[in-house]
Amino acid sequence: MKAPRDRSGRESEPGALLEVAVALPVADVFTYRDLPREGRLPLGSQVVVPFRGRKVTGFVVGHPEAIPPDAPEKIRPILAVVGDSPVLDQAVLDLCRWAASYYLAPLGEVLCAALPSGERASSSRRLRLTAAGQAAADGSANAGLAAMALDTADRALLARIKQARTLSQAHVARSSSAGMDRVTFLIERGFVEVADTLRGAGRRRRDLGTADSEGAPPPSEVPPTLNAHQEAAFSALLGALDRGYATFLLQGITGSGKTEIYLRIIAEARQRGRGALVLVPEIALTPQLAARFRARFGDDVAVLHSAVPPGERAAAWRRLRRGEVGIALGARSAVFAPVRDLAVVVVDEEHDGSFKQEDGFRYHARDLAIMRASQASALAVLGSATPCLESYHNVVLGRFGRLLLPVRANPAAAGRPLPAVEIIDLRRHPAGPGGLLSPPLALAVDQTLAAGEQSILFLNRRGFSTMVHCCACGFVLRCNACAVSLTLHRARGHLLCHYCGRAEPIRQLCPQCKSPSLEGMGSGTERVEAQVRERFPGARVARLDRDTADGGRGRVEEVLARVQRGDLDILIGTQMVTKGHDFGNVTLVGILQPDQGIHLPDFRAAERSFQVMEQVAGRAGRGERPGRILVQTYSPEHPAIQFLVRHDYEGFARDELAQREAAQYPPYSRMVVLRLEGRDAREVGDAAGDVARCARAVADTSTRVLGPSEAPIPRLRGRARFQVWLSGADRGKLLTVSRAAQRMPLPRSVRLEVDVDPQSVL
Ligand code: ADP
Ligand code: ZN
Ligand code: ZN
Repeated sequence: MKAPRDRSGRESEPGALLEVAVALPVADVFTYRDLPREGRLPLGSQVVVPFRGRKVTGFVVGHPEAIPPDAPEKIRPILAVVGDSPVLDQAVLDLCRWAASYYLAPLGEVLCAALPSGERASSSRRLRLTAAGQAAADGSANAGLAAMALDTADRALLARIKQARTLSQAHVARSSSAGMDRVTFLIERGFVEVADTLRGAGRRRRDLGTADSEGAPPPSEVPPTLNAHQEAAFSALLGALDRGYATFLLQGITGSGKTEIYLRIIAEARQRGRGALVLVPEIALTPQLAARFRARFGDDVAVLHSAVPPGERAAAWRRLRRGEVGIALGARSAVFAPVRDLAVVVVDEEHDGSFKQEDGFRYHARDLAIMRASQASALAVLGSATPCLESYHNVVLGRFGRLLLPVRANPAAAGRPLPAVEIIDLRRHPAGPGGLLSPPLALAVDQTLAAGEQSILFLNRRGFSTMVHCCACGFVLRCNACAVSLTLHRARGHLLCHYCGRAEPIRQLCPQCKSPSLEGMGSGTERVEAQVRERFPGARVARLDRDTADGGRGRVEEVLARVQRGDLDILIGTQMVTKGHDFGNVTLVGILQPDQGIHLPDFRAAERSFQVMEQVAGRAGRGERPGRILVQTYSPEHPAIQFLVRHDYEGFARDELAQREAAQYPPYSRMVVLRLEGRDAREVGDAAGDVARCARAVADTSTRVLGPSEAPIPRLRGRARFQVWLSGADRGKLLTVSRAAQRMPLPRSVRLEVDVDPQSVL
C-alpha cells in the first residue's frame, strides 16, 4: 500500500504558497504549501504546520507568488486550518507587522499577543473526523477513492476517533501504532481535522456575554450640555474626524469631563457606522466606567477585561470582527481588538504605566494605539491630567494637537479650580513612629471627621512593613529567589516578595543569630490603617490596595461603594485610590510619604511622582465642598512637590524636559535595554560582557553603550540578571546594534530580551 499515496497526491493540484509566522519566539517567517482548495486561504488564518519535528500553530501572513530563494528545497504542506474564518484581520495584521519590526519581536509571538487566549489553538489540540473520515470509518462507499489509500492502522485510528468523538493529538501520538506521520497523512487527506473546540466553548460563553450586557441599562442616559471648554475640544475633534490620521492630547484636570468628550466623539463615529477603540489602565477598568459606556451605547460596547474569562473574551473578539459590536473598551491588549473601520482611538490616562507590557513581547499600548490610528487613518485622542513627557514633547514639536480642559465639569464643582496643596515639612513636624501621621495631618483628619466629610490617605506601598531586619545582628529577611527584601503583611499573616509573589510564614527568631529581635522598618498602607484606627477610634476606616483586591472578587467595588454611599470616613490606599472614581464628599487628601518615590534611581522618578500625586490630589473637592490636599514630606523643595503645590503641570513639564535634554534622556534620545538572564550569575555576566562588546563594535558615535552591569534587582525568581543599555538619537542605529546583539550566539541557558523604549530600569 505504498503506491496510493502517489496516486492520491496526483488527484489535486498542489496548494498555493503561504507565508506563515509560527507562534514561537523565532524571528523568521516560513513558507508552506496550502492544502488543495478553491481560492486562497485568507491572510490572518490560523493554521497548524509541521515545524522542527513538532506541530505548531501559525498564522498566514503572506501569499508569496514564487518560492523564496532561502526556502528549503521541499516545501511542506500545512496540516490543518483552525476555524473557518481568519482570526486576524488585515488592520491588526498590519499593526502586528509594524510592532514586530519596531520592537524587534518575532512576528509569531506578536500575533499570539494580539489574540485573546481563547482564540489561540492550544497545544492540547483535539482531533475529530471530517465527513470523509466518518464515511471511511463506516466503510461507506461514499468514502471515495482516497479512502483506498488507508491501511488497517489508519482505519483503526479513524474508528477510535469516531468512538471518542474527539481525541487529543498528544494521546494519539503516544498510543497509536499508526504514529504521528499517519495522523498528519489523515489530516492532509482530509479525513481528520483539528477540532476547533474553542468555537463551541465560545458559543456557549457568548450567551453568557449577552446575558451580562442585557443586565445593563438601555442606552438612555441623556448627555449633559458641554461647557465652553468641552465644546471647543469636541468641535476640534469633530473637525478632524474623517479627515485622516491625527493625534490630539486632551489635557484636562481630573473631573474636567474628558470621558464625556470620548463618549461624544465616539457617538459621532458610530453615527457614521465607523468603529472605536478605547484603552484604559487595567486598574481604571471599573464597572462604573463600563457602565458609563453601556449607558450611552448599550450593547454596542465590548468590554475586554483581563478578569473576563478567555471564552467570553474570544466571543467578544468575534462580535467585533463580524461588526456586530462597534466599540471595544479594554486595557493594554485591547489595542489589538479587531474593531472594524476604525475611526477613533482613545487612550485614557495615557501616562499610565500599565500600558507597557513588561514581559514576553514588550510593547507600549499607547504607542501602538497611535500607530494603529495612523494606519487606519483614524483619530487618536490621548487623555490625561498629567501627560507623559513624551506626549507633551510631541505637542511642543507640533506632532500632536492639544486640547485643554482647565476646570471641573460637574455642576456641583463647576468652574472651581483644584484644591490648594499645603506642605507639611516632616523635618519640622515629626510624624512619630513610622513617620505616618504628623500632627497637622492628624488635625486635618479630625476636622474633616467633625464636618462629616471623608478623607483619603495615600501611601504608595502596601503591606505593614516594607522590610524586616534583626536589631541584634542587622540581618535582613530576603526572598530566597530574588535579591529583594520581604514585605511584612500582618493582616494576611505572611512575609511576601512583591516581585515574585512568594510568601513565607512570619517568624519570631532571626534566622542568623536566633535572637527574638526581628523588627519591621518602612511603613505600608496596612500600618497606616493600624495607626489610623488607633488614633481615630470612632471613625469608619477601610483600606484599598492589591491586598484588598486579592481578598476576593468584588471587594474593591465594595470598598468604593462604601465611600460613595458615605459609609466610610477614612479611606487608606495605594494608587488604587487614584483612578476612575468620582467621590463627591471627599474633602481631604493626605499624601503621606512621597519621598521614596521621588528619589528612586530612575530618570522618570520625578515625573511619575508628580503624576501620581496630582492624580490623588484630584480626588479632593469634586463635589459641592472645596477640598484640601496635604503633603507630608522631607523634600518640600523638590520640583515634583513645588510644582504640585501650584498644580503647575506646564511648569513641571518644562523644568523636567530641560533636565532631560541636558542629560540626553528620552524624549531627547531613544533607549533600548538588552536584558540578559539565566541561572548562573557568572555565565550571564560573561554573556552580558560579550553582548556589550558586540554592541560597541557595531555602534557608531551616535549610539552610547552602557554596561554590562548587574540589574538593580540582580536576581529575580532565582535568575541572575544583567543589562546593557543603548541610547542615542538615531533609532535606526539602535535597532541595528540590537539586532546584532540578538544574533550573537549565547549559551543555551542565557536568555536575551530586547526592550525597546524601556519604562523600567529594574
Ligand atoms: P474626567 O474624565 O475628566 O475625569 P468626567 O468625564 O468623568 O471627567 O466628568 C466628571 C463628572 O462631571 C462626571 O460626573 C460627569 O458626568 C460630569 N460632567 C462631565 N461633563 C459635564 C457637563 N458638560 N455638564 C455636567 N456634568 C458633566
Ligand atoms: Zn539577628
Ligand atoms: Zn521573590
